[in-house]
Order: sequence, then structure tokens, then C-alpha cells
Amino acid sequence: MYNYLKKFGLSLILSSLIGVIYLTGCNQAMPTTVEPLSRTEFVLGTVAKISLYDHQSEEILDLAANRLHELEDTLSINKTGTLIDEINNQAGIAPVQVDEDTFKVIERGLAYSELTDGAFDITVGPIVKLWNIGFPEARIPSPEEIKATLPLVGFDKATLNAADSTVYLKEKGMQLDLGGIGKGYAADEIADLLRSQGVQHALIDLGGNLYTLGTKVDGSLWNIGVQDPFNPRGKIIGRLTTADHSIVTSGIYERYIEDEAGHKYHHILDPKTGYPYENEIAGVTIVSKSSTDGDALSTSVFALGIEKGLEFIESQPDVEAIFITTDYKIYITEGLKDIFTLTNDAFTLAN
Ligand code: ADP
Ligand code: MG
Repeated sequence: MYNYLKKFGLSLILSSLIGVIYLTGCNQAMPTTVEPLSRTEFVLGTVAKISLYDHQSEEILDLAANRLHELEDTLSINKTGTLIDEINNQAGIAPVQVDEDTFKVIERGLAYSELTDGAFDITVGPIVKLWNIGFPEARIPSPEEIKATLPLVGFDKATLNAADSTVYLKEKGMQLDLGGIGKGYAADEIADLLRSQGVQHALIDLGGNLYTLGTKVDGSLWNIGVQDPFNPRGKIIGRLTTADHSIVTSGIYERYIEDEAGHKYHHILDPKTGYPYENEIAGVTIVSKSSTDGDALSTSVFALGIEKGLEFIESQPDVEAIFITTDYKIYITEGLKDIFTLTNDAFTLAN
């Protein structure tokens, strides 16, 4: 966490400096350009940026920022005192009464765990903690440790009771981890909050989870850069035009650890083996109406590989995807063929 803070803190300072230079230059060259009113927060383990294009309201941004922190205080497993922390501590002991957010995210998470037959599993917590990928304590666990931990994973051992709004993990040591779905839920919640405040044109960026609210102010579509999974901070592979959609990218080169032989272990783990999924997928971008769906799906498809992943996404109504392979090929679903443009010549469109 500390390293992240340091890294993001630095890039925040840098980007604000660049922003100032850019704005100054921009004001001189194009005095009539209306800049969005933006807010950047370090929250939910990432840099979140909300930009309002039709309201110059710090109050609305305050509401959005407070909501993001509230969600972090409820859903994070990297903080003590959250409801998720409480559910995990009470595993094998007692059901825990939770608020509406917690209940809803867990309900959606369990639905995806079922849909994917456990390839996506929000009870993967004990395995995630064993590896700790993305944190300074990251290490490669021994096969024995993995074998001993695997029995603590299994979404079928998590129960929800809607009548009294409780969550119960049946075995001591079980742990929920909402890292694969929480940011998507947060993006959807912020979009709803902005809409309820009358905002019709905005961008919500939760570090890789992007949501385009409405169109641009002039009614045209947003031109969204699709992240290059090999250079997650900055470079893009292409652009897509869209409005009122979530665009979520998940890649294997953003968080990983390397062993002495140079083998990379990334952060999307197979709940059945305890090791990272290994196939030809380097990254995937999911385009969907709901960002909760996009987030869960962007994590899930790593289990499937390109061919089955494409088939699976095509079977989901109103969901599209861009798959990027480790050898720089790009596969896109039918619905994106007219709206995605490849702009990076290191990559080739393969379908
Ligand atoms: P990020 O945008 O933070 O990279 P992803 O959406 O790619 O997140 O999800 C990865 C995170 O999901 C991991 O850091 C971990 O917390 C959690 N996770 C890892 N493997 C699984 C899995 N098989 N099912 C559900 N969640 C997972
Ligand atoms: Mg995800």
C-alpha cells in the first residue's frame, strides 16, 4: 500500500504540474475552450478522477468523493474495521449484518461466481493474501501452503440472507475479496449519484474502470483510449467511440511478481489451483452498460482464454470485449467492429 501511495502520489504531483502547464498553454491558444471541472482522489487502492462537463459544482464533486471514501470504508479488505473485514473475522463463527452496498456487491459477486462456475470467485481472499501481489509483502508461496489454503476457497460456502441482510462464511479462515468487482460497483454508484444531481455529461475514471456518463456536451460520442496492457500507465492500443457505457480494462502486467528465472506471476488467480491463470491473454477490455458487470467479466475471462472468452462474451447480452494476446494480437467482439479503431501499429487485428 505504501509503495502504491508513493508511486501514485508522485504521479499525481507530476500530472497536476503537466495539467497546469497544459491549461496555461491551452488558455492562451484557445481561450474559448470550456474545461471540465475535475476531482482526483486516491481511493479504493487507485487514482480516481471524476470530471463534470456540464456543471461547475465543487459540491457535487464533494458528494462523489465522499461516496467513494464511504464505499472504500465498507468494501475494502486492505483496511481494518470495514464490513468485509468483519465478515471475514466472523467466518465460521456467526453471520454479520451488513448495509445495502455490501449486500448488493456480494450478491452480484456470488452471481458471477456461479455463472463462471467458480472461475471468478469472491471467496478467493485466502489465496490472494497468500500471494499479496501488488503489495510490498508479495511472495511466491510454496505448493504446500497453496494446498493447505485451497479448501478455504469456495463461493458455495458463503451464504446470504436477504430477510435479515446478513452474510455468513461457513468456515473459519474464509475471506471475501471484492477486488475483482468493487471498483465497477463504485463506478455505477457514482454514475447514479451524478445523474441524481442533474449531471448529464461526465467521465468517471477509477484507475482502469472508466464510465462515460451521457455524451459529450455537444451531443457527440466520447473518444475513449483503450489501455495498452503492456504499458498500463499512459499508452493506448486504439480508440472507441461510445456514450453511457462502462469500459473496464484488466491486464496481467500491472501487478505481478517475478521469480529468479524471470517467470511472471500476475494477480488474477485460479481459485481451483491457487496459481495465476496462464494463457495467451495479456489484457482484456470489457464494454458494457453496467460497470459492475464489466469489472467482474474482465476478471472472469482470464480463466477462459481467447477462443472461449470471445464465445462467452458474445453470449452475454449487451456486453462487448477487446482481447489482447501476449503476442500483440487483438480480437474484438462483433458489436465493436464499427466503433473500435486500432491506433498502435505494434498490434494487429486478428479477427
Ligand atoms: P484491478 O483492476 O485492480 O487489476 P481486476 O478487476 O483485474 O482488478 O481484478 C483483480 C483482483 O481481483 C485481484 O487483485 C484480486 O483482489 C481479485 N481476484 C483475483 N483472482 C480472482 C478470481 N479468480 N475471482 C475473483 N476475484 C479475483
Ligand atoms: Mg475486475
